Parts: sequence; structure tokens; C-alpha cells
Amino acid sequence: MASEAQDSGSGASADRTRLLRLALEKKGLLGGAARDDKLILPCNAASPPLSSAQLRLWFLEQLSGGSAAYVFSNRIELRGGVDVDCLELAFRDLVGRHEVMRTCYSQRDGVPYQVVIDEPEVDMPIFDLSGIDGENRDREYRAIERRESSEPFDLDQAPLFRACIVKMAPEHFVFLLTLHHIVYDGWSLAVICSELKAIYEARCRGRPSPLPPLEIQYADFASWQRRRLQSEAMQHELEYWRRALGGHLPVLELNNDLPRPELQSYNGSLFRFRLPLELSESLRQFSHRHDCTLSMLLLSAFKILLSRYTGETDIIVGMPVANRNHAQLEGLIGFFVNTLAVRTSLERDPTVVELVSRVRRSSSEAYIHQDIPFDQVVDVVQPSRDLGHNPIFQVMFAFQNTPALPTVLGDAEMHLEIVDNDTSVFDLTLNIHDGAGELDGYFEYCTDLFRPDTIARMLGHYRTLLRNMVAAPHAGIGELQLLTDEEYRQLVYTWNDTDSGSSSDDCIHHLIEAQADRRPEALAIENTDERLTYADLNRRANRIAHHLLASGNVPGTLVALFLDRSCDLPVAILAALKAGSAYLPIDPSYPRDRVAFILRDSGVDSVLTHTGLLDRLPTDLVEPICLDRVADTSDDRVSSNPAVEVDPDRLAYVIYTSGSTGEPKGVMVSHRNLVHSTRARMHYYPEPVGCFLLLSSYAFDSSVAGIFWTLCQGGTLHLPPQDTERDAQQIVATIAESGVTHLLCLPSVHGLILALARAEQLASLRTVIVAGESCSVELVIQHRARLPDVKLYNEYGPTEGTVWSTVYEIRDETHWPQIPIGRPVSDVRTYILDDLLRPLPVGVIGELYIGGAGIARGYLEREDLTTQRFLTDPYCDRPDARLYRTGDRAKFLPDGNILFCGRRDHQVKIRGYRIELGEIEAVLRRHDGIDEAVVVAREIESSEDFGDWLVNRIGGHDLAAVTEILAQIESEDSRSGGGAAAAVPESEA
Ligand code: AMP
Ligand code: MG
Repeated sequence: MASEAQDSGSGASADRTRLLRLALEKKGLLGGAARDDKLILPCNAASPPLSSAQLRLWFLEQLSGGSAAYVFSNRIELRGGVDVDCLELAFRDLVGRHEVMRTCYSQRDGVPYQVVIDEPEVDMPIFDLSGIDGENRDREYRAIERRESSEPFDLDQAPLFRACIVKMAPEHFVFLLTLHHIVYDGWSLAVICSELKAIYEARCRGRPSPLPPLEIQYADFASWQRRRLQSEAMQHELEYWRRALGGHLPVLELNNDLPRPELQSYNGSLFRFRLPLELSESLRQFSHRHDCTLSMLLLSAFKILLSRYTGETDIIVGMPVANRNHAQLEGLIGFFVNTLAVRTSLERDPTVVELVSRVRRSSSEAYIHQDIPFDQVVDVVQPSRDLGHNPIFQVMFAFQNTPALPTVLGDAEMHLEIVDNDTSVFDLTLNIHDGAGELDGYFEYCTDLFRPDTIARMLGHYRTLLRNMVAAPHAGIGELQLLTDEEYRQLVYTWNDTDSGSSSDDCIHHLIEAQADRRPEALAIENTDERLTYADLNRRANRIAHHLLASGNVPGTLVALFLDRSCDLPVAILAALKAGSAYLPIDPSYPRDRVAFILRDSGVDSVLTHTGLLDRLPTDLVEPICLDRVADTSDDRVSSNPAVEVDPDRLAYVIYTSGSTGEPKGVMVSHRNLVHSTRARMHYYPEPVGCFLLLSSYAFDSSVAGIFWTLCQGGTLHLPPQDTERDAQQIVATIAESGVTHLLCLPSVHGLILALARAEQLASLRTVIVAGESCSVELVIQHRARLPDVKLYNEYGPTEGTVWSTVYEIRDETHWPQIPIGRPVSDVRTYILDDLLRPLPVGVIGELYIGGAGIARGYLEREDLTTQRFLTDPYCDRPDARLYRTGDRAKFLPDGNILFCGRRDHQVKIRGYRIELGEIEAVLRRHDGIDEAVVVAREIESSEDFGDWLVNRIGGHDLAAVTEILAQIESEDSRSGGGAAAAVPESEA
């Protein structure tokens, strides 16, 4: 080891202190007022402590040791003549000068301390690949690089770096230097390169290192920092952070492509880029003109991007700072870098210039308080922790403004590149380096969350934003276009190019009448007791329609249906339509209160029912017509299609669905909607309906799919007995006995069928459609295994979109994280928009909006609610085009298919029924003993299970009082036949 290096060893530190004091006194820096916390002195401690940042890393390493996440690898390319011996000597000199390069970390009783080794064994292998040609050489090199960069370190073994020299060609060398973060940071690299250069060039001339010994070492800084952090001034700084990061801290959920692992994995990759020269220049000009640094401008754009991606306006981004504010620290190697949490509000749509000044303010303040190590900030802020997320911020922005690196080493050109070692400490880090001309940089991203094409798109958006910011500094940030023109075209037009070109003024019953004409003897409806041909169906429906008309029913009104699942059900539906009325289905199993509410709310005049159901019908509200009392007849006058002109824009049905205000609401669907929905089905599904098993209640809009698809296509509608939907065994038996070809059900029901059935029982099935709730990958696996030849589809759509809006044909997606809901069906448009109705890019979660032919007329007698949920379609030229705001969260996959991502509100699905929890809350709040109510949906095994859960939840509250109120509600409820607690119809929930 060279003699000057030994000077910096610990033996000489008393001397150094004296010399340093003298030097500083000479400069007038150490008057009587000089305080220890301003000047760092050698500490002479036997076992110096770790710096605060080191301590955190040390703990992390104890927790999840063996990871390369905190290992940095640098590839220093040298082109030209290199004296390898001198390079090695120079590097050894450097190791001698800096104690940190010879330090490892031991512990006593769990407390780590630094151990400086005087002469550690430093291995510096030299690999000569210059004799190997082209590809083979590169492959060998990559193997070396991979090994060097991905091997973890043992913190209690010095040195915590690895160095090797690879000779690629006679005039081409790579010096590969890999270090653990605990001894190193980005700035250190600049120190290493410039010192290496100085020593190497001297060594080449046969001289010793020209560098003066170091005044202080890293351990001195660590001891000094420890003392300083306990001082009063620091308490003040902590107070700043407590304030700055107070309140609710948003967790930035970026558009992960893949489900977030429960434990952070650190798997990562780099995505490198360069910004065009002309853009780089205009960014520089902008920052001059608007009095901000380039880094603030770039950070502002990044914050806009993050805000658009997440819908958050409170954006916290981590930013590394060199943390070398003392001139004394500038020349040291070591882990100094600190992280600042820069929090900026993007609220109230600031202009670009205003936002930049907000970012300037928030980052300057953070800079002023940068002395507090980030881990201490975490300690005082105490954010809620989960192991899958980084605390306080999840995304980093790093602007490299470390001193410029030397570009030559002796006779060789020197060029440095960071080695990608497949790790990422954060979800996402944007690194930008301000070189001479073009700005260049890279995204470091967690590969457990993002795919490379997502990062590529993100870069495109970042670039577009930067361009638009420079072009319109006084525009509100909300106006800035994020999408490239091509993306916009694709999202708004190409993927919505669903026009079928068919426009008809048919009413839905005309299509069924046409089937009755064409194939009168074909079987239309069957159940266990009865079978109706198309001719029977049509004749019976005509008879009832004439009866309705004769008893004063005016076309254009509503006719309620209160019927069990008999063959009369489709007859009554068709009859109401033929009479020019819309049908309003009410399930007789609904609680009495709900039946009465719907009758009253809709203002229906007549209700078609059966004598056997009269006692469940509040007959004071409506005049019932009992189907079993309308005599069958073949009288031509009443068996022919009634001559009622029906406008296709008239209503075909009204279906009630849960409402958050405590009352359900009726969705109004026109003939045009229904004809569209049905035709789209006949157009989309390759297999025409043979026999369709109608599982869902007719009060639920998925029944609409089966009834009209089947009857308009001439198939047979099979009506199983009441409650079959809950009895999978019964479903399987029915499929087998009746030769069912088409099935549409909840994914959970299909799961039960698959689990119970023997393969031969399902032999008749051709098409299975799951809808209403998310289709799991497990279900697809199960289906593929049991029914490899049966087509499986995932349909999505709200009642307001007339049954279905998108569909996905499931093939072999058994290894996908999630099954898409597909693309819009014919004549339907879908958009994924943010809160300002701007289209969001692929991969970004927003709200799903539906436009086109399926959009219902609105909610019956609920104009305010209709205006809230049904808007003018801003992306369609037709003036009457409307959009329905679904409340569903969704995102596009790169191929245009849509992924369903849950609800924005508290709507849940229970056995396929849409329940707004607010509806139940509103009902509970009406009770005298209850001020506030929160309803949550939870799966329970038994009522005991529920009791336990409830006790846990209300914990310290007055359990007896709560139980009493609940009991009261229950008894009131059963007296009224259901009501509050049973917003879900009994038969389904
Ligand atoms: P409904 O109006 O009763 O048909 O319910 C419509 C709602 O059910 C949608 O807004 C979604 O929240 C949910 N939904 C329907 N189909 C699906 C599906 N295939 N995957 C996930 N959720 C669905
Ligand atoms: Mg539906």
C-alpha cells in the first residue's frame, strides 16, 4: 500500500485534527463562534457508528439480505491504450485513501458499528477476452458483467466492492466496478473517476499519487451526523417534515400491468431514452425564461403525468439529493445521498407556469430541510405501512447534476454506463441526466408491476406533455394533451368502429311474430309441465294483448308483471309489448314493501298476474288481471296480432335496480335499445340458439338476453322451476334432460355446474356465457379442463346499456392475471375517461363510459339522476349521441380489450344483484335509534360467523344496544315482509 494512503489511516487522526483546526483558523472559519455541528472533525472512535442512511440499509439487509437491490455496478469503458498495471495500482491507492472502501459492518448486541480494515484483501481479476471473436466475446463479457453485478454482498466482510478489468481488444478495456450502496452513491462515482484519473496518470509517469491526504473520513461524518441529529436545531427540521407530510398521504397506484406482490421484490429493469435535441433546448429555454431549474420543470411534467395516471392531485415524489452541503464532504466516497419527499398539490388546475412555481416552492422547502435523513422523516411521519409499498412515496425522480465525469483516462477515452442488474428499489424512478446536448435518462421500473411496453408508452406521454408544456406555458395543466395523436385516434375512433350499418325501425315483438310466421310449429317455450310452439305463444300473447286493450290499457303505458316462472311469463311479456305497452317485471319473491314501492313509484295501471299470487300483491294499488282467468280461444279476432302502431322509440321494458338514495330506480329501455341489443347478439355469436336455459329471474336484465335472443332467433326457451338457479344439481339435470345448448349465468354458478356435473351431462352445451360479475382465471381453467370444446364468453354490461355492452371470447387465457371483458359489441362505443372526461391511455385506470345504440332512455321519473348518469357523448358527431357513466373502473389492454377494475362507489354485486350499499344505509338511518350507518358487503359462512365479526367490528361500543336495534329492525322487517335488510330479493340473496 502506498505511503500517502497510510497517512489517512486512523493512526494519524489526532494530527489531522490539529492541522485541520489550524487551517480553518487561518481561513477565519473557526472563531470562538465556530460550532461543532458546522465543522466535521475526525472522531477517533474505536467503533464508529453507522450514518443514519447506512443504518437503514443495514437493517434492510438484515431483513432481506442476499438481494442485489442495493448493489450498483458501473461499466467504465476505456478505448485506447491502457496500462493495466498502473490502473490496478491507482485503484489500490484509491482504496487506501478512502477508509470507507475498506470498511465493513459488525454488530454488538444488535447495534452495528463500522470496522475499518487496514489492509483488506482486494482481488482485482483481469479477464482477457481479446482473443475471442465478436459474438462469443460479447457473450462472455455479459456473463462476467451479470455475475459481478448481481452477486449480493456480506456487510460484515470488507471490501464492499468488486473490481475487475476486462480486456476486450488490444485498445478496448472495461473497468467493471460494483459497490454496495452502504459505501457508495452517485456522487461517489464522480469522486472515484476523477481520483482514479489523477492517480493513474501520475502512476503512468512513474510518480506517486498527487492527491493530498483526506482531512476526514466517512466514519467521521457518521459520528458527526449522529451528534447533530440529536441537537435542538434538528427538532425544528423534523417539525417541518411532520407538517409537510401531515394529513392523509396518497398511495400512488400506478397502472400496474400485473398484480402487486404482497412483499416488495425489488425485481426491476431499466428503460433508457434520449429526448430530442430540439425539445431539450426548448426545455432549457423555458427554464431560463420562467426562472426555474431544468430539474423543477422536468419534475413538474412528471407530476402531471403521475396525476393523470392515478387521478390523484396530491403528488409526492421522492428525490435524491447529494447531501454534501459541506465542502468537507465533497471529496469523499460514501453513502451520503438523502431522499426528499417533494409534495405538490395539483389542485385547482394551475397553469403550467403556476405549477412550475408550486414545484419550485415545494422542492426548495424540501431542500432547505434536507439534512434530516429520510428514515427519520419516516419515523416522525409514521405513514401507515404495508410491505408491498414504499412508505411516503412510491415513485422517484432523479436529476443527475453530479459533477461531470472525466472523459479521458491517460491515453484512453473514458465512457461510463450504469449496468442494469435487474433490480428496482421503487415502483418507478425517472432518471434524467443533463448532458451537453440532448437530455438523456432512463426509467427504472419494477418488473413485477410493469411491462416494458407500458414504460415505452409512459415515455411517449411524458415527451408529449413536455412538448405541450413548452408550447403553452399559460395553459391550465388540465388542457395539456397527454396522448399522441395516434393514440387518441385509436382510443376514440378505431376501437369504437363498431357501426353495423343496420338501422331499422322494427319493434322487438315484430321479430318474434316473424318467427311465428316462419316456423309456427317450432317449440318456443318449455318447462316441466308445458310446451308452447311459436304459434301457441303468439296466439296466447295476442289474446292477452287484446284483453289488455279491451280493458282500457292505453298504448304507451306500463304493464306490471307479477308472475312465477311458468310458460305464461314470456306470453305476458309478449302480450304487453303487442299492446303497445312496456313491461315492468316484479318478482313475486320480492319483499312486500319493495313490491308496493315499485308499483307506486312506476304508477302502473295494470298488473298481469295469477290468481295464486293475489295474496302477495298489494291489490289496493293496482287492478290485477289474472292470466288464468282470461279464457283461451281460437277466435280470429283475438288471436291475430293486434293492430297497434308502436313507435320504436317507445319503451319496451322498465327494470328496477338498487339506488343509493334509499330507493330503487327504474331503468327505461326502448324497443330500439332492445332490438339493437338482440340483433348485436345474433350478429356476434356464431352458434344460433338451440335451447336456452333461462336461469335468472325475469326481474333481472340478464333474463332479457335469453328471452329475446332465443325467441327472435327461433330457438327454445327452457324455463326451469323456481329457485333452480340456486340448485346446481338441478341445473345440471335440466341441461342433460332438455339438451340445453346455451347457458348464460353468473361465473359462480358456472363454477358450481362444472364442479358437479359429469362430462356427459353437459354434452349438449355449445355456448356458455358468464356475466354480471368478474370471471376468474380459475373458472377458465376449470372450464377448459371440463368442457374443452364448449365456447366460453365473458359479457359485461349494466342494465342502463341494455344487458350487454362488451364481450370477450375466452380461449386459453389460463395464465393471464385477469380475464378481460372484451370490446364493445356492434353499435356500441366504450371510453375510459378521467374525471374531466378526457380519454385515458392504454393501461391507465379510469371510469368506463358507454355510448351507442344500447344506451337506455334514463331512469323513470328521476330526471336529476338521469342527467347525472347520462351525458352527451362529446366524442361522437351525432348530436343526439349519449353516454352512460357506469361507475365501473376499467383500463384498456394494448390490443383494445378492456379489463374491469372494480367500482368507483359502494355498489356491490350479491348473487348477481346490483346493490347500492347506500340504499341499505339510508333505510337504516331512518330508524330512530340510528344516526349513522355503514353497510359493508362481506362473505360469511354462517350467522354465527357474522355475529363474531360484528362483535369484533363494533368492539368497544354498546353491543347490547346495537343488538337490540338490529333485532327490532329484523322484526319490523319480517312484519312488513322483507324491507330494509332485504334490499336483495329473497330468492337471490
Ligand atoms: P346490472 O345492471 O345488474 O347488469 O349490473 C351491471 C354491473 O355489474 C356492471 O356495472 C359491473 O359493475 C358488473 N358487471 C357486469 N358484468 C360484469 C363482468 N363481466 N365482469 C365484471 N363485472 C361485471
Ligand atoms: Mg346485466
